[in-house]
Amino acid sequence: MDLFEKCFAFTRAEETIAAGLYPYFTPIEEVHGNIVKVRGKEMIMVGSNNYLGLMDHPDVKEAAKKAIDKYGVATCGSRFLSGTVDLHEKLEARLAQFMKKEAAQTVSTGFQTNQAIIASLVGKDDVVICDRMVHASIIDACRLAFGESMKFKHNDMKDLERLLQSTGDRGKLVVVDGVFSMEGDVANLAEIVPLVKKYKARLLVDDAHGIGVMGQHGRGTCEHFGVESEVDLVMGTFSKSFASLGGFIAGDEPIIHYIKHHARSVIFSASIPPASTAAALAALRVMQEEPERIQRLNDIGDKMRKEYRRMGFDIGTSVSPIIPILIGGDLRTILVWKAMFERGVFVNPVLMPAVPDGQQLLRTSYMATHTDEQLDRVLEIFYEVGKEAMLIS
Ligand code: PMP
Repeated sequence: MDLFEKCFAFTRAEETIAAGLYPYFTPIEEVHGNIVKVRGKEMIMVGSNNYLGLMDHPDVKEAAKKAIDKYGVATCGSRFLSGTVDLHEKLEARLAQFMKKEAAQTVSTGFQTNQAIIASLVGKDDVVICDRMVHASIIDACRLAFGESMKFKHNDMKDLERLLQSTGDRGKLVVVDGVFSMEGDVANLAEIVPLVKKYKARLLVDDAHGIGVMGQHGRGTCEHFGVESEVDLVMGTFSKSFASLGGFIAGDEPIIHYIKHHARSVIFSASIPPASTAAALAALRVMQEEPERIQRLNDIGDKMRKEYRRMGFDIGTSVSPIIPILIGGDLRTILVWKAMFERGVFVNPVLMPAVPDGQQLLRTSYMATHTDEQLDRVLEIFYEVGKEAMLIS
C-alpha cells in the first residue's frame, strides 16, 4: 500500500474548485482597515478576528517596525536558549499585571500555548475534562498529554459533574473556551467555577476570543462573570484582539514556572519574533488606553444580533461579536457563502467536521472599527441573500 494513496484519492477540493465553490485559502491582495481587496475587488471584511481593529493601528505598526530595527526580523532560537529578548519579558510582565495574575508566559502561537499547558500538566495519573466544543488546539493537546481525556456535553453542568464525580481523587484539569469560536456563546463560568472547586479540580479557560472583547476592561470572560481570582489558568492568543501572532498563559507563579520548564512546545520551538512581540505590547497598551473600542465592539455585536434576529435568521446562542448564521448542509452553506462573496462581503463558511452535520454556518465576526454604514450594507446584503436562499421569509 502506497502511503500517498489517500492524497491521490482526495479529489473533493479540486471538484469544488472546478465548480467555482471553493471558499478556502483565499488570497487577500490588500488590507485597508475593514476593506480588503480580493481578486481586484474590494470587500467588507466580516470574517476577521481583528476584533479591536488594531491590525493596522499606526502605533502598533510603528512598534513592530522599531523592533525590527533594534532586534532584527527573527529570534532564531527558543525562549529556553538563545531566543529570549527583553521585549518578551516586558510583554509577560504587562500581561500578568493586566490579567491580575502573578505571572505570564508567552508561547509562539495560541495553538502551542494549549499544548504547553495541557501536555505538561496532565500526567499519566491525571485526567483532562473538556467541553465538547473546545478549540481543535485543545483536543490535540489532550492527545499529546499522557493522562486520560474526557469530554462533557456543551455547557452541560450535569454532564460535567458526572465526569468530575467519576474521576475520584485523580488530578483533574477542566478546560473550556471562554467564548466559543464558532458559536460565539460563552462558557457558563458562574456554575463551572463552583463545580471545579467542589471536586478539587483546576480550571483552564481558553479566552482567545474573550480577551479584548468581554468584560468592561477587556480582561475576558472571567472578568465578564466576575470570577477572575477563582480561575487557575487563562490562556489567550495574540492573533485576535492583539493583532499579532503568539499566545500566552497567565496564572500563579509556581504553575507558570513549572510549565515553562516542562512544555515541549516552549522549549523546542523558536520564540515569537520581535516585531510580533512589540506589536502585541503596543496593542495591549491601546486596549488599556482606549476602552471605548471594547464598548464599540460590544455595541456592534448587540446591534448585529438584534438585526439578524429581527430579519428571522437563526444565530444560535451567540452573546458576543462572533455571530453565526446557521444554515445547515455543506452545499447550501457554500452557496450562501458564494452569494455573499459575490456581493462583496467576506465571511467564513464553517462546515463538517468543524461543526456537526446540520449545523453548518457562516461565521461573521465584527471589529470595533466597522462603521455603521458598513454594518448596514452587510445587513442589507444578508437580507437579500437570505431571502433568495429561503433562510428567511
Ligand atoms: N484557541 C482558540 C479558541 C482559537 O480560536 C484559536 C485560533 N483560532 C487558538 C486557540 C489558536 O490560536 P493561534 O491562532 O494563535 O494559534
